[in-house]
Amino acid sequence: MNEIIKIEGLRKRFGDNEVLKGITTSVKQGEVVAIIGPSGCGKSTFLRSINLLEEPTEGKILIDGIDLTSRDVDINKMRQRVGMVFQQFNLFPNMTIRHNIMLAPVELGKMTREEADEKATELLSRIGLLDKADSYPDSLSGGQKQRVAIVRALAMNPEVLLFDEPTSALDPEMVGEVLQLMKDVAAEGMTMVVVTHEMGFAREVANRVLFFSDGYITEDGTPEEVFNHPKSPRLQEFLGKVL
Ligand code: ADP
Ligand code: MG
Repeated sequence: MNEIIKIEGLRKRFGDNEVLKGITTSVKQGEVVAIIGPSGCGKSTFLRSINLLEEPTEGKILIDGIDLTSRDVDINKMRQRVGMVFQQFNLFPNMTIRHNIMLAPVELGKMTREEADEKATELLSRIGLLDKADSYPDSLSGGQKQRVAIVRALAMNPEVLLFDEPTSALDPEMVGEVLQLMKDVAAEGMTMVVVTHEMGFAREVANRVLFFSDGYITEDGTPEEVFNHPKSPRLQEFLGKVL
């Protein structure tokens, strides 16, 4: 299988604080990778680096063989291929739900308004929210907002989807509907990198789990390996707290 994401020697420093200390890994097409680890260990910084929302201090990020850190890369074009879903949804509050979904494909010249409108209808039907198309995000529950944010990312037909703790801001009763949509998207073959606290999701849906600690990936394995046979005391301690 194709390596769609390649990270080589990634380091990231904020002032004196070296958060990522040399990360080398890759993600194959269609893989679902869960990232776990203690708070503050650099999971978000790593994820944000994959579409250059954070600029690496050192190292390379390659998407489909194209080095994002190289000067002559059109980063906006590359970002269209790598969608991102945030903890706080980041929907535009002053736009209807339909327009939230249509915005990027139209503004970035990927679709005509008619095509984007059709796509929005299809995506909202898929998540059972077509009747909300002309409402504003405020009228939705947290779970509905996050499902809209996910299909908004899908509207661009990305090759990779990054998720940063997509269920952490939700009331517990809404977590399931968001995880279910993510499972469906994974089952369709989307390459996904998911920072998550949901160990159940990581176990069930991920092909691979990466454990971050102290600025490194310290374990990398199948859910079975990472959850049932953790090698390091650090991971054993972490799992003891979260499971
Ligand atoms: P995690 O997502 O694993 O909780 P983060 O990647 O958000 O961790 O943060 C890792 C470390 O980097 C923390 O110490 C955090 O304070 C620091 N950090 C993150 N973003 C910035 C920033 N923009 N400026 C300075 N420090 C930052
Ligand atoms: Mg984070």
